[in-house]
Amino acid sequence: MTLSLSRVAKTFAGGTKALLPTDLTIAPGEILSLLGPSGCGKTTLLRIIAGLEQPDPGARVLFDGEEVTALPVERRRIGMVFQSYALFPNMSVRANIGYGLKMQGLARADIDARVDEVTALCQLQPYASRAVTALSGGQRQRVALARAIAPRPRVLLLDEPLSALDAALRGQLRDELALLLRSFGITAIFVTHDQDEAMAIADRVAVMRAGQVAQIGTPETLYRNPTSGFVARFVGGAMPLRGRVTGDHLHLPGGALRLRPGAAGQQVFVRAEDIRLDPEGPLAARVEAVTFLGTHYRLALSGAAPDLLTALHAGHSAPRPGEAVRLSIAPDALLSLPAEDHA
Ligand code: ATP
Repeated sequence: MTLSLSRVAKTFAGGTKALLPTDLTIAPGEILSLLGPSGCGKTTLLRIIAGLEQPDPGARVLFDGEEVTALPVERRRIGMVFQSYALFPNMSVRANIGYGLKMQGLARADIDARVDEVTALCQLQPYASRAVTALSGGQRQRVALARAIAPRPRVLLLDEPLSALDAALRGQLRDELALLLRSFGITAIFVTHDQDEAMAIADRVAVMRAGQVAQIGTPETLYRNPTSGFVARFVGGAMPLRGRVTGDHLHLPGGALRLRPGAAGQQVFVRAEDIRLDPEGPLAARVEAVTFLGTHYRLALSGAAPDLLTALHAGHSAPRPGEAVRLSIAPDALLSLPAEDHA
């Protein structure tokens, strides 16, 4: 299903503008993630799509070209998965999955067939007759997903579905959820404040800030071509290099870096993975701290820029805290972005 939003905005009683007028189109089968810090309006946007929240006048929500703006949630044919799975604890996995179908008044045989289908799709057969209380967090999450897709919704809406899980399980389920959503082939919108989660699961990510979509694009586009300091920081943790630009050079406390042409008047950012230890490098720095991460060392570096910089170093050994080092950064790795007041 194609989902289109036109001038969707929300002002809450009391005047909070949770969402400024937003236009968005999501293609059939596309998985879109709404990513942003707390309070940026992600949940409000999702709730408007669901029909749980009424947008300001002038907004239009279209499902395959059909206007659903005024339709209540139960008539939109959407599937929802929340952080708290809201499963029925005293019912079996099968009964939970079949619940929505029973409510729709489907015949027993049809319910059984559909439950079998999604139970298999979500790899829940071994647990089908168990009570949900006898399942792990990850298994419960799959039951919630199976229950949401069983009635064949037109769009699946997920609000922080992994945030109730511990860190190790989250990482594992992130990939599992990405595969499952793809196998459903259903249009899905996924709210998260976790960049890794958004990047791993979504075809496109809408980065939100203060009630607006700051940028929308594939994970690669957002990482390689952020259009603002906010997106550069939020996706891939770019660090500002606060210095003085003259001609094609950026002058920093530790030395001068060559920029790509046309960077004057811009803010310059760099990512930890693009800062190299290089004895011939133009920037002087001092190692403050070293953390071994297995595949990399993470270095905290002072003196090169006004702020502490983090660098990832992939060698077999690393300098020690207190050592003086030299750094280089390829001109291509310096992100020159429009200056913002609070980038
Ligand atoms: P989080 O990640 O913390 O859930 P979010 O990005 O989902 O945040 P929203 O829940 O959409 O953000 O909230 C956006 C803004 O609207 C916030 O400033 C919030 O306080 C405000 N807000 C949300 N719901 C209401 C409400 N029912 N009444 C008044 N203000 C609200």
